[in-house]
Amino acid sequence: RSKKAGRDTYRFFTAEMNARAIRKLEQENALRNALERNEFVLHYQPKVELHKGEITGVEALIRWNRPGYGFVPPSEFIPVLEQTGLINQVGTWVIETACKQIAEWRHGGIGEMPISVNVSGRQFSQITLNRDVIRITEENGVHPQLLEFELQTERALRENSIDSDLLELELTESSLMTHAKKTVGVLKRLKMLGIRISIDDFGTGYSSLAYVKRFPIDVLKIDRAFIMNVTTNPADAAITTAIIDMAHSLDVKVVAEGVETVEQLVFLRERGCDEIQGYYFARPLPSTEISRLLLNGKERLRLAQSLAS
Ligand code: C2E
Ligand code: MG
Ligand code: MG
Ligand code: MG
Repeated sequence: RSKKAGRDTYRFFTAEMNARAIRKLEQENALRNALERNEFVLHYQPKVELHKGEITGVEALIRWNRPGYGFVPPSEFIPVLEQTGLINQVGTWVIETACKQIAEWRHGGIGEMPISVNVSGRQFSQITLNRDVIRITEENGVHPQLLEFELQTERALRENSIDSDLLELELTESSLMTHAKKTVGVLKRLKMLGIRISIDDFGTGYSSLAYVKRFPIDVLKIDRAFIMNVTTNPADAAITTAIIDMAHSLDVKVVAEGVETVEQLVFLRERGCDEIQGYYFARPLPSTEISRLLLNGKERLRLAQSLAS
């Protein structure tokens, strides 16, 4: 009897696994065509500075507008892009699109608005072996071991005539730690171009701030996991306060992720946190909506009021 049950379970699992494998293959194939079919879009979430309540920049967050599925969140397809290596092409598209957006805002009356872009560790592992690229870089006296990523980023900035300090790259703490050796050099070169570097999801990756300081970073983003309970959980409050103080003593700016309530905002402001990002102020918005928000002062007023109260 137990043997039969075992066999049924086995059959059940294989059917289930087949279905899952097929779905995954379908998703992979769909992702392979998604770029040329223009199915990716960037949404933008503002970051707000806590003194004047001004928007100081936005973070670009990718969405996949998959036909028949609607907007697919990045957690469901970024890992697949990483596994298949497609993240390199998609990552280049993200940087290019962000640079075009910066240029559009500059010409469209919004002025200079920095954009931060998320980067996977995997994008730092593709040393370019393209012969043309090597020739060009050597002719220009640049490091011949440049990454495809560095070349594409530099090109996107140049072609859109963008000051490099308007582009910020966000790398998660865990991807920094995983690729530490390779990453330090790349980040130093990107930094030399004038690009700003930020550590995302900080506090979840078991690294000390002192270690993190080996990287040339400008900004540290405290993970939402700590902010979520910052006003109710004394341990999270203590960790958040310690991160802010240590970051400041190392001359690094601090952004709190996932701020949803005015209580969290007040706590963070009292502790000297520089900027906040979260649903309390705005969700990630499509380009047209964020442009409207950046143009009118209403949201700014709302924040100024809650800062005053
Ligand atoms: P992240 O960079 O830490 O981005 C913050 C995430 O938190 C975003 O989720 C954002 O929508 C969400 N969020 C912001 N404020 C709040 C809030 O107040 N409450 C809650 N509950 N959530 C909030 P999203 O857009 O789903 O992105 C998830 C992750 O996917 C990002 O985390 C980032 O690691 C990755 N990602 C997004 N776009 C890209 C991209 O273009 N390239 C790469 N490599 N990764 C990306
Ligand atoms: Mg991020
Ligand atoms: Mg984050
Ligand atoms: Mg996160």
